[in-house]
Amino acid sequence: MIQLEFLGAMASVGASGIYLDTGAEKILMDYGADVEETPARPPLPVPGKVDAIIATHAHFDHVGSIPILMQKNLSPIFGLPVTKELTEMLLKDSLKINKQEIGDIEGAKLPFTEKEIHLAVKHFEPINYRKTFKVHSTDVTFFDAGHIPGSALTFIQNRDTKILYTGDYNTVDSRLLSKCDEDLPKFDTLITESTYSDRDHPDRKKSEKDLAEVVKHTVSNGGVALVSSFAVGRAQELLLVLDKFGIDAPIYMDGMAKKSTTIVNKHKNMLRDPEALETALKDVKFVAKDKMRARIVKEPCVIITTSGMLDGGPIVPYIEMLHNDENSSLLLTGWQAKGSGGKILLETGKFPIREKDVEVKMFVKRFDFSAHLGRKQLFDFIEAHSPEKVFCVHGDHTEEFAEELRQKGFDAFAPVANNRVFQV
Ligand SMILES: [Zn+2]
Ligand SMILES: [Zn+2]
Repeated sequence: MIQLEFLGAMASVGASGIYLDTGAEKILMDYGADVEETPARPPLPVPGKVDAIIATHAHFDHVGSIPILMQKNLSPIFGLPVTKELTEMLLKDSLKINKQEIGDIEGAKLPFTEKEIHLAVKHFEPINYRKTFKVHSTDVTFFDAGHIPGSALTFIQNRDTKILYTGDYNTVDSRLLSKCDEDLPKFDTLITESTYSDRDHPDRKKSEKDLAEVVKHTVSNGGVALVSSFAVGRAQELLLVLDKFGIDAPIYMDGMAKKSTTIVNKHKNMLRDPEALETALKDVKFVAKDKMRARIVKEPCVIITTSGMLDGGPIVPYIEMLHNDENSSLLLTGWQAKGSGGKILLETGKFPIREKDVEVKMFVKRFDFSAHLGRKQLFDFIEAHSPEKVFCVHGDHTEEFAEELRQKGFDAFAPVANNRVFQV
């Protein structure tokens, strides 16, 4: 028997955290942070000491609160080698942005410091896919999740109990990554993300073509195509899309996307085509200094930059310079959280700059370049592996999803705050 205690991402896409107790070992799978709040909110506290922490992938909602654990519990952190480097980058950046945004306002500061980030990096033990490792009597194996470079499906085996935790995953190829591993060991319990349990994605090829068309149209009109992107995964995917469609204008990259692209390109073996990113990068210039920004926007060009939700990062000074230019465009390529600058802009046409809401006259459009599987693929995955129990987490409609699965004969649950401890 294993006890599962859900600590976050219950009935929402937020701070992931699952505490697993075999009776002998205690393993924590993910410990993220919810960026819809300031400071980003951690999952519920961990019930006790853990023997191992698993970092399924380097997204803030999965690793953002790991440094808090380092204050009391210096256990090893397991994840892919690229996850180690990307996590260090993300955590340092979150601290920097938090300081810039809130200064020294007590209560709004992130609950960790540089010291705990350093400890997290020091205790990180890189493990590759398909290399089983032991946490005392429990075997743990990572499989490729196809979501971002280094994302892992985590397979846990303790005696006869076999669990698969998906983290975030994708069962469809992207330009950057191959779809998740399909050759998985048999598991009885599945803990699955459900981000898109209620909808399918639009046709990816069409989204790519539409994006390329807007970019081409913008530069041919003498404007700047400003592409906001998440740093990890998405920025590299966009480079490959632009490379495929051949854009006749300079392409720049700015913000954390630069460092993240450099890290991802060092781990070529993670990529679907190990050389494709290198090739696409030949036509890309990194914005080296802040003052370069005012110069490059004078000519037609494409700029891929963070942050993906328009909350901080170089995207903000670019919007400040370009918001009145009707020939320029602002392309959002990711999910926009409630209250984020991107969501506000899409809903009101206005964007907050220096505490004033300014009208954005640029052409604004959101594209779906999701790295999560859609509704149809979620059902296909579950039906193909037919686990005895399914836990639905990391989605806004987990209870509806669990109910649909129950109607199909699965023993499915959607953990919520007052019903979140289960035996499997
Ligand atoms: Zn993710
Ligand atoms: Zn996530």
